[in-house]
Amino acid sequence: MSNTHRDIELTFLGTGTSTGVPVIACSCPVCTSDDPRDKRLRTSAMLTINGKNYVLDSGPDFRYQMIREKVGDLEAIVFTHEHRDHIAGLDDIRAFNYLLNKRINIFCTQRVLDALKREFPYIFNQNTRYFGTPQINTTIINKDQPFLLDKDITLHPIQVWHFEDMPVMGFRISDLTYITDAKTITPEEMKKLEGSRILVINALRKSRHISHLTLNEALDVIQAIKPEKAYLTHMSHFLGKHEEVQKTLPDNVFMAYDGLKVKI
Ligand SMILES: [Zn+2]
Ligand SMILES: [Zn+2]
Repeated sequence: MSNTHRDIELTFLGTGTSTGVPVIACSCPVCTSDDPRDKRLRTSAMLTINGKNYVLDSGPDFRYQMIREKVGDLEAIVFTHEHRDHIAGLDDIRAFNYLLNKRINIFCTQRVLDALKREFPYIFNQNTRYFGTPQINTTIINKDQPFLLDKDITLHPIQVWHFEDMPVMGFRISDLTYITDAKTITPEEMKKLEGSRILVINALRKSRHISHLTLNEALDVIQAIKPEKAYLTHMSHFLGKHEEVQKTLPDNVFMAYDGLKVKI
């Protein structure tokens, strides 16, 4: 897939499922682990392209993720879907609005925009908009239309399914494909993954789940695409400890962890 940009880095801002890991009040071995790789904030990632930052989802941990990674500038947020663990932090872009004196570009489907309007009516309501509310520009995206994230930067949407009826957008840029919150991927959309050198895919846990790929289902997708490297994300405490699960994975498959950076 042709691309004019050269310098792309992916930072895993969070790699946990909607509860985060540790889960509140849980005393399982994963939630009480001392390994920093077993501390998982809600799933989000950041693309840094030619020095500019673009975030994929702003969940409830967005504020802390921006502070932890010392992010001083933000161009845009691209949303995968409207679940709260992926949108709840939108209000915190205010800090960037003040600091940079600019609007943040939001890219999402019409369905996600409708949800954002319900969740954050004050951002969109001209009458109640007051000084200090988040300032955004929105662009609607569609599954079959590559879009310009910035000038010369094209993202290719890939639509996957969460429950049977909830569309989630994955994204491909150059040799990188990022997919979270998938349960099924149609053969047509699978074609868009072909040739990915780096594949990020969600793997919730080992046992069946109605709306997320299990570890084995994620490994099936990886096996079909055969990327150079695959990274697992959106993991639950039920999947197990990083150190123990990693040993069981194929050589090209890695459990992502919060703060991990991958050069594309
Ligand atoms: Zn999620
Ligand atoms: Zn979800």
